[in-house]
Amino acid sequence: MNKLNNTETRLIDTNPIGEVRENVENGQKIFITTRSFEQDEILAQFGAVEILSTPNYLTLQVDHSKHILLDPPYLQYINHSCDPNCFFDTEHMCLRALKKIESGKELTFFYPSTEWNMQQPFACFCKSENCLGEIKGAAHLTDQEANRYRLTSYISKRRSQQQ
Ligand SMILES: [Zn+2]
Repeated sequence: MNKLNNTETRLIDTNPIGEVRENVENGQKIFITTRSFEQDEILAQFGAVEILSTPNYLTLQVDHSKHILLDPPYLQYINHSCDPNCFFDTEHMCLRALKKIESGKELTFFYPSTEWNMQQPFACFCKSENCLGEIKGAAHLTDQEANRYRLTSYISKRRSQQQ
């Protein structure tokens, strides 16, 4: 057992860039880095274990009706934050650091940066200054909210078509 942010967690996976830990109390999984990354550095290349036509809570949207199950699978444990430190670049199929990331930090990405309309919207408690509260997908962002984030080329294009 390790203590992280005063919460007991249990190690469930180790991989080349970090480890997946499970919160013992609520079963929630988090991805913690075991090395540091510079801004814009590529953390991992990714591909698809499977491509689905409809989204679910584990998929990453890469096109209109293309939702992938991530390969390597450990990347699916990267949680949402309204103040993310990494970005799934679905054009180049790589995970990039949005800022310098120290070893031991939780990796997070902004779900609406890849997801147009989420199957399972949720209330966010990321505690960041600009927390959006309810996370529903890029279709529901105001321009002001969207402009704060790096979005995939698919999402940016779709938002511009929506205007
Ligand atoms: Zn938030």
